[in-house]
Amino acid sequence: MTSHQERLALPLDLDQDMVAELGRYAVDFLAERIGELESAPASDYRQAGHLAELLLGRPPGAEPGDFHELLETFRQAAGQGVNTAGPGYLAYFPAGGLVSSVLAEMLAQAANRFTGVAQTAPALVAMEQSVLTWLCDMFGLPAGAGGVVTTGASLATLSAVVAARHDRLGDDARDGTLYVTEHTHLSVAKAARIAGLPADRVRLVPATAELRMDVGAAAELIAADRAAGLRPFLLAGTAGTTSTGTVDPLPELARLARAEGLWFHVDAAYGGGFRLTGRGRARLAGIEEADSVAFDPHKSLFMPYGTGVLLVRDPAVLHAAHAADGQYLQDLDRLGDLPDFGNLGVELTREFRGLRLWLPLHLHGVRAFAEALEEKLDLAAFVHRELSQDARVELPWEPDLSVVVFRLRGADEANRDLLARINATQRIYLSSTAIDGRFYLRLCVLSVRTRAEHVYQALRTIQDCLNNEISSQM
Ligand SMILES: *Cc1c(COP(=O)(O)O)cnc(C)c1O
Repeated sequence: MTSHQERLALPLDLDQDMVAELGRYAVDFLAERIGELESAPASDYRQAGHLAELLLGRPPGAEPGDFHELLETFRQAAGQGVNTAGPGYLAYFPAGGLVSSVLAEMLAQAANRFTGVAQTAPALVAMEQSVLTWLCDMFGLPAGAGGVVTTGASLATLSAVVAARHDRLGDDARDGTLYVTEHTHLSVAKAARIAGLPADRVRLVPATAELRMDVGAAAELIAADRAAGLRPFLLAGTAGTTSTGTVDPLPELARLARAEGLWFHVDAAYGGGFRLTGRGRARLAGIEEADSVAFDPHKSLFMPYGTGVLLVRDPAVLHAAHAADGQYLQDLDRLGDLPDFGNLGVELTREFRGLRLWLPLHLHGVRAFAEALEEKLDLAAFVHRELSQDARVELPWEPDLSVVVFRLRGADEANRDLLARINATQRIYLSSTAIDGRFYLRLCVLSVRTRAEHVYQALRTIQDCLNNEISSQM
């Protein structure tokens, strides 16, 4: 270790040799970390408090630091908490983060071209647009559909709600109402709030016993609101709810929305990628009727966090809701048919997010993604079958996609305890949810790294903890 005094200050603008040297070290570091994911604990908090305190009290110094030491600090910090990139992560929507996408991201950042408008990087914008067009085709949206790559479905949903509001309500949105269920993701209500709609304009449509939006009840609510002088404008269906992965009846919702002149938004943040599989294609039927689709490649396309998309039937509507003029942009002419992404979403300056999608899709080929997702569906079905054999456990809902919810027959307290025991093994990490006021454990198979052997291991861990749980109660 060198001291401050001896340490050579690196110039801000690293030259080619330095980039090669530091880059090699960083890529080796990355490879090592990926290699360690298999054996790393599913969660680890042992150093978390200590490290957090240390790091909070450590602003950057005036003098140069040491690259290796700094990466070592990062390594320790990244090791604390929940190992969302590991194969045992079966909780929220795991992705793992495809390493080809990580490398793409590094290269995209190195190019650092401006993709807020087409004129400054037309070919890169074309790359990104080609992925968006491919996604529109995947969902069955008509020719001419388009969209924008965002940081996630929350931002995509915000732009969808803003577009719907602008298109269906104009400038005065106070009387506008939108329709969700209690199983709809919070990002829809959040988007409505940010878009200026009062909280009571978000209508909760009852769900069926299967946890799907009740289409008849939605129709009644819309009619009642209209009779009361309100202006229903958006119906939000979900293709894979967060709690249970349940798909709403999209064809019926599409018909209702069309008949009532409502914007039909489909939240496919989690479920979207399964459209590449035979089963998913069938379950997501009706999504092709959507006016907008929010989808998270950082969920069911295994991309790293920070990769979402908004797709819209008519990009002109998205443009009308978001575009604004600034004199400082007067040099930038529209360029042919290429979109100016800065006019289709919240951001103007944006990183080039296209490569993190484009490179893995072209490199691995689409079939590799389809097969990996088929495997996740198989594994979730397997977990459901296996747990169903156990008379101590109840599983009221068959998985539509890759989420399995279950509970020990008995009190919520025992189930909370069971979850704590399972996660304390540090072999896997599950989450929980509440449905109809009852506590459920939730297991989601979605990480690119979660293979059959990990799922067998997960089931053994759950069985062990179940046995302990039962004996501790006797
Ligand atoms: C994850 C999720 C969201 C929010 O997406 P972010 O990428 O976290 O912003 C929205 N809807 C559903 C169904 C989700 O699962």
